[in-house]
Amino acid sequence: MDLSSMADMKGILDSLQSQMSQLSTQGPRTRAREVGSGQAFSMDQIISMMPKKKLAREDFMNDQLADLKEKADREASLPPEHVPLINRKDLLGTLRATWKAINEPSPGQVMSKQVIIFWPQKYSTTKIGDLSSINVADLMVRKTHKGNYLLCRTICPPVFDGCIGFLLGVEDSQGDTAYLKLCNHAMLLEADADETQNIMPVGTILVLREPTYYTNANVTDLPFIMVESPSDVIFADFDNPILRDVSWKSKLIVHPRAMTGEAWKAAGLKDFKASRWFSSAICFTNCIKFGFDVQVSRLNRAEVYLRLGWNNSALHDAQVAFKSGTLTDDLKRKAVVRMLKALYAMNRYREVLETASSLEGDKLSGEWITKANQRIEEQTTGNYDWPKLYTNDKNANFSPDIADFTGPIEVKYDPSGLRGTYVTRDVKAGELLIFHKPSFCLSAAEIAKSGDSSLQWMSVPALKSADDRDTHRLFCKAVQRVWDDRHMYDTLLALYGGETVAEPKKFPPPFVTSPPLEHPTRPCVDIDVEYLQGVSMFNSFGSKSGKELYVVPSLLNHSCAPTARREFIGDAFALRVLQDMKKGEELTVSYIEADVSYDEKRFRMMNSWRFNCECIVCQADDEDGYDARDSRRALYHKMDDIGNKTSNAYDAPTLRRLAAEAKKTCDNMKRTYHEEHSRKAGGRKYELAQPLRLLANALGHLGRTISDASFIRQSIDAKMQSLTVSGMKFIDKSLSGPLPSGSPSLPVDTSQVPQFYDISVLTVIEIAHSFKEIGDKKRAKRWFDVAIWSGKRLQRRWNTSLQTSPSSVVGFAWFIGSLSVICDC
Ligand SMILES: [Zn+2]
Repeated sequence: MDLSSMADMKGILDSLQSQMSQLSTQGPRTRAREVGSGQAFSMDQIISMMPKKKLAREDFMNDQLADLKEKADREASLPPEHVPLINRKDLLGTLRATWKAINEPSPGQVMSKQVIIFWPQKYSTTKIGDLSSINVADLMVRKTHKGNYLLCRTICPPVFDGCIGFLLGVEDSQGDTAYLKLCNHAMLLEADADETQNIMPVGTILVLREPTYYTNANVTDLPFIMVESPSDVIFADFDNPILRDVSWKSKLIVHPRAMTGEAWKAAGLKDFKASRWFSSAICFTNCIKFGFDVQVSRLNRAEVYLRLGWNNSALHDAQVAFKSGTLTDDLKRKAVVRMLKALYAMNRYREVLETASSLEGDKLSGEWITKANQRIEEQTTGNYDWPKLYTNDKNANFSPDIADFTGPIEVKYDPSGLRGTYVTRDVKAGELLIFHKPSFCLSAAEIAKSGDSSLQWMSVPALKSADDRDTHRLFCKAVQRVWDDRHMYDTLLALYGGETVAEPKKFPPPFVTSPPLEHPTRPCVDIDVEYLQGVSMFNSFGSKSGKELYVVPSLLNHSCAPTARREFIGDAFALRVLQDMKKGEELTVSYIEADVSYDEKRFRMMNSWRFNCECIVCQADDEDGYDARDSRRALYHKMDDIGNKTSNAYDAPTLRRLAAEAKKTCDNMKRTYHEEHSRKAGGRKYELAQPLRLLANALGHLGRTISDASFIRQSIDAKMQSLTVSGMKFIDKSLSGPLPSGSPSLPVDTSQVPQFYDISVLTVIEIAHSFKEIGDKKRAKRWFDVAIWSGKRLQRRWNTSLQTSPSSVVGFAWFIGSLSVICDC
């Protein structure tokens, strides 16, 4: 394959889209693979194929997506038309065949599934009462039936389409049939086959708001209704006023799940035991409708709602049951506990205190009061039990029980209309400004479970594609999250949702209270699926715990010379400032690791978020030119190679040769930076940091092998250079002799901390160790203090380790002894 041609680059881009977006959120994996071909491309190969110009959005318009968009536009330009009705027998036959193909594939057959998200996606905002009824015979393809609803009932069990929806056959009251696709229904997609049948048995009556009738590209004589937003489908119960005066022409045999309140209760309890929350909630709702054991059914439903994360409705149910005056003492206690759980999950800690006090004399009361008080303390002060958090963070799937803390920050628009996050008072390097739990997330365990690499997902609106189910799964979490929380919905709509959707709303949106759910199948908001999909896609973070969406952190802009640093503790997001900041300055974070090359960064930024970074570091790299960066990259790899050889070398002549080679390579690499340009970037030359560390290692190794202190000093000097190019400012770089008089206690500028934080602390500790090795106890102590300062000021993880178990700090056996000696002095 001729890798240099642009056409190939596009092809590769197409195949790499999803892998690269994963790379950008999940850390520094450097190889990507082309799906299906088994051919591997390194990031360097990708970069070498990229045009030497700034990448534009169009470069990332994947060929397939471009075709789809064109097709969608063409389709939209055609007039709507009536098409022949579908014969019931044919329809049922097609569905059976689909079910068979998905559930009983022939041996050896691998199904590859493709989801194409068209543009625009529809959702209705009109109340049923303001819509008028139409029948299947009135439907026209390529038309969204504004102002109308379609009343229909299912004539077969739902068939999961293997992708993001369910296929159904429906009939209207005239007996005319149609093919229906229900997409993006989070709770249905979560359900197993039995639960799906429970929720939608044959004969389930559905009201579809403003339905759209599509033609099928592959089977043109099989048009279908597609409901993209789950808020557009209403499950109509027997008591729904819309069913008054409706009589069904066909003689469909309907088997409702239960006919009495008692039977519904039994079904609800059975589902509950099987963890089928959604179906269970529907059963208990029917219990209440039948007037059977109403308050207990409410209490049961409250518990189910808690499992579904619908805390607002759970609280309401528990409160109504509690106030009914019909509960026994034991049930009253249950009601209070459910209220407490709901309030706690909604961060309403003061109400937890009030409610818990009603449990006077109960040991649970004290437990809840202690917990709530702790959360209030965290929320107001930002003081957390850090040692405990960091210890627990070592466990897989850790999700800390903490209150969100938001420091002195605000979201503002700059004069050019760009939104950003700013500090509202002066802050010191290391200050904690955000510590938040995710608004919703997909855990690593869920990701492992759902791994389905045969699903390809292409979103025409977002111009993105992915080769797994997770992108859609995270979006489903968003749907479930907003189901019962109107304010969260408004809040998510205030985040960036991509270029094709409306401008985000002002942040923060005014607070609105959500009414409790009328019915578990009916969300409290009309869900704009396209917007919510964009929000989930462009704002999610990837941590070792999974994929998360946090609201406030989503509003932080990127810079390669950021003012703040993010850290994940379990699934919680912490943000600390990297430098002293004045009131009104902007908080920025680096979306990707700082030390990747400019060209890789450029590719990944555009691929994941569709922007070119214009920060001072990128400007300097850009001005250095492609050729300079190209040789820089080659020298970086050469240093990697030298580093490997050094760690395996033990004889003086080899080490001497390698150290000389390392020195020469670093010098050559330095020459690829134009001094004028890097001065503007504050001396930051991130790509040089690691090679300088490797040089330092080579020098140190040599110095120790031949017992020559001058090489150890050169090694210290290279480590200081490495810190300098990472953005650390020095006050005292002296390597020997008396300490400069009148210099402050620490040899570095404590108003800012370098970018590669973890590596930097390690480097600092190594410098201290090296000084100790050559007998310079004074400097050793001074540099050790720098490490302690960093720990105290910036990242408690280090601080905790330094104070509790020095061995965990570096993990080098040789270091333990020296650290304790330094601590002694
Ligand atoms: Zn930049």
